[in-house]
Amino acid sequence: MALDAHRIPEEPYYRPVAGEVALFEAAYAARMPMMLKGPTGCGKTRFIEHMAWRLGRPLVTVACHEDMTASDLVGRFLLDPGGTVWHDGPLTQAVRHGAICYLDEIVEARQDTTVVIHPLTDARRILPLEKRNELVQAHPDFQLVISYNPGYQSVLKDLKESTKQRFAAIEFGYPDAAVEAEIVAHESGVAAGTAALLVRIAASSRNLKGHGLQEGVSTRMLIHAGRLAAQGIALETACRIALVLPITDDADVRDAFSAAVSAAI
Ligand code: ADP
Repeated sequence: MALDAHRIPEEPYYRPVAGEVALFEAAYAARMPMMLKGPTGCGKTRFIEHMAWRLGRPLVTVACHEDMTASDLVGRFLLDPGGTVWHDGPLTQAVRHGAICYLDEIVEARQDTTVVIHPLTDARRILPLEKRNELVQAHPDFQLVISYNPGYQSVLKDLKESTKQRFAAIEFGYPDAAVEAEIVAHESGVAAGTAALLVRIAASSRNLKGHGLQEGVSTRMLIHAGRLAAQGIALETACRIALVLPITDDADVRDAFSAAVSAAI
């Protein structure tokens, strides 16, 4: 069957933080276009994987980038020995066969690429394939989901107002300390006490946000540090290579963050 490769066979671990699972189920029931909003590494991708599994839908994920064209999403004619043959792009496949299509970091895409999703997000639920002169009516199970990190927004890189207003949003952030520690312990294999310590270190980096750091340490980074510690690397070293070094190139900020790590350990 089409899109079999995009089915999620086993339950992806997802620790609910607020009422997001029920909210998303309601949104899916209405086939409402959804925006998952929040900083990088806080669980948006894991959440949509979990929801696709829970709803029994295939998940087609596209990592958006600035060189991405509308053809990369909808498809193109390609030359093969028999002549030119149309190949559906990932968005078209999801639309035809009833998948959830997740456009990750949609702001990275150029605005002229983003507009191809517009007719899919209103009552028409259609995807025009101009080159093929075809209007694809979305499969009843199709849903469009985008992720959006408001922290990166600038005048040059932001979603058009006309795009934003087509989506309902669920907000993601760093969970409460106890919940985040539970996630870090589960994903990295470190003991609960070490996970709690890593989360406290993250909190100190999150206070540096706006004072030299563009973003605080994400849950993803804590899991990296935890995995190294679980391999037997000393915790301070693990924090240095998984948290301090990647997050900033500014020597002063790095020293301040290193000092906070040492103090915590
Ligand atoms: P995003 O898509 O927001 O950038 P991810 O979904 O890739 O972030 O999250 C990074 C990692 O953090 C995931 O691979 C997962 O291990 C972990 N994670 C974050 N939040 C949760 C959560 N609520 N439940 C389970 N794992 C989580």
